[in-house]
Amino acid sequence: MLQAIKDTQIFNNVKQDIVSPSHAYLFYGEDEMLNIELAKVFIASIFCGKPACFSCEACKRVEINKNPDLLILDKPNLQVVDIENLIDNVQLKPMVYNYKIVFITNSEGINETAQNKLLKTLEEPNPQVIFVLTCTNIEKLLPTIRSRLVKHYVSKVDLELVANDLTNQGVNIDRFIHCDITLTDAVKYSTLQESEVLNLLEQTIMNLKSSADIPNIVGKLKIKSENKKEYLTLLLNATNCALTNTQGLFSEQVISYMQANYKIQVLIKMLKLIDRATRKLDSNVNFNYVLDELFYNILKEKYLCK
Ligand SMILES: [Zn+2]
Repeated sequence: MLQAIKDTQIFNNVKQDIVSPSHAYLFYGEDEMLNIELAKVFIASIFCGKPACFSCEACKRVEINKNPDLLILDKPNLQVVDIENLIDNVQLKPMVYNYKIVFITNSEGINETAQNKLLKTLEEPNPQVIFVLTCTNIEKLLPTIRSRLVKHYVSKVDLELVANDLTNQGVNIDRFIHCDITLTDAVKYSTLQESEVLNLLEQTIMNLKSSADIPNIVGKLKIKSENKKEYLTLLLNATNCALTNTQGLFSEQVISYMQANYKIQVLIKMLKLIDRATRKLDSNVNFNYVLDELFYNILKEKYLCK
């Protein structure tokens, strides 16, 4: 849990609910990681009985997801059967604490039938059960569900505020603090940085000079399959940065190199080419083949614009 969340205005807004909480809450905003962190600190606070201290048994159990009265549903698409199991579970009394808390993340993924099932439990609240939901898109929840929830909009928290907490947990987001991105992305990119996808992509950009370089670049590229799409996304981001004259996640050298070597009309064409390559990758076309074709087309555009 991020202790810095306690210093935010958003947490201040929910503080008064800790002692006698309502039946159901929704924390929503474009940054799901932030929604979840805030929800977790709020949940810990309810078990702790005051704004989370982060050191008592109750808080620590929330931190490691091992609180017997905390039921976490974090599957991306909850089905009717999941909600039915949940309904059975919330009939039981809390084991240790005053409340049983049901924590559902990414709740926009619950299908409509399952949402209607969930609505039934929200309509007949068990006084010892609290629902805490998070989502990025509130419109995906049925209006009937939304009306049962105490809603808190989670606005962007300054990354600087939480960076220290994350560094203590071994995640360094310093490089992304001034990049105007979400916490979710900052953490994702910092992990990518460690796994070197970002570095590999930067090397590709710097090494791609003529079609003779393509076999060498593609042949030597060692990317885990789960990061292949990310590699293309980063190339798209780099192209956008070169076009808009921003640095984003990339080193200054890389963006200046792109600006010096690719004309604006080529960069614009690249956006389309990368998008096409991403769709091919999505439909399971071989990664090396996708890259061969993409790099060849980029160089062709570059040559035609000379
Ligand atoms: Zn505590």
